[in-house]
Amino acid sequence: MIRSNFHTHTVFCDGKSTAREMVEQAIKLGFTALGFSGHVGGHECLTPYSMSDESHVAYLAEIKSLKEEYADRIKIYCGGELDLFSTADPKDYDFTIGSAHHVKKGENYLSIDESAETERYNVDTFYCGDFDAYCEDYFKAAVECVKRFSPTFIGHIDLPMKFAEINGRTESPRYLEAARDAIAELCKFDIPFEINTGAISRGYRSTPYPSKNLLSMIKSAGGRIMINSDCHHADSLDCAFVEAEELAKKCGVDGHWIITDNGLEFIKFS
Ligand SMILES: [Zn+2]
Ligand SMILES: [Zn+2]
Repeated sequence: MIRSNFHTHTVFCDGKSTAREMVEQAIKLGFTALGFSGHVGGHECLTPYSMSDESHVAYLAEIKSLKEEYADRIKIYCGGELDLFSTADPKDYDFTIGSAHHVKKGENYLSIDESAETERYNVDTFYCGDFDAYCEDYFKAAVECVKRFSPTFIGHIDLPMKFAEINGRTESPRYLEAARDAIAELCKFDIPFEINTGAISRGYRSTPYPSKNLLSMIKSAGGRIMINSDCHHADSLDCAFVEAEELAKKCGVDGHWIITDNGLEFIKFS
């Protein structure tokens, strides 16, 4: 059973629950660890869902205070979800997530995960409808993000598939080749890839991502995995963890990695 989450958003960025509500829910679920991961934006690429400078200061203070208050009940970690274009100092956090949420096309920053409509518009307008070309640029951005920040783990590596069921996107041979190249490059960093269930709780997907194809690639390339809910509301803190674990097992993965005070630790699935 998965009893931790290291991808948690709160009202400091685009989450719907307070940090305290998340901690209370984590304790109720019997979690041993909870990692907060507020979106850290950038001045180059303005992201409305990211913390403002003021809320960033308040976020760091609040998580520090909760960490102390709940120290005898749960381990709390203060992280940051960094985008390729974030202006962040990874030293501010206990851990970081490297997550590409944009591709830069000319002078335009195209949001990958804003909405299914935005995705269709961006692919049609900037890529003449060529979804594979769009994904090739995304995978390059995902690799660049990890190179830039050396994060603790890699967020939602196949984010362009967030709206696959809505927009009818499938994994073409070209898409899979771009994914394989990115996974091979990212495995050199020896940090976990996350299995993310956030798109299920928000009603975009019926299965966790990455897909079975990509997870099998990660497994073959010797990559590690970590299961997270990319939670935006306390009610979905452990959303689809059972399904994520089953998916991992189907791909030959026998456990996942969590963050501890002593670095990453492997937890075998029961
Ligand atoms: Zn993200
Ligand atoms: Zn997130």
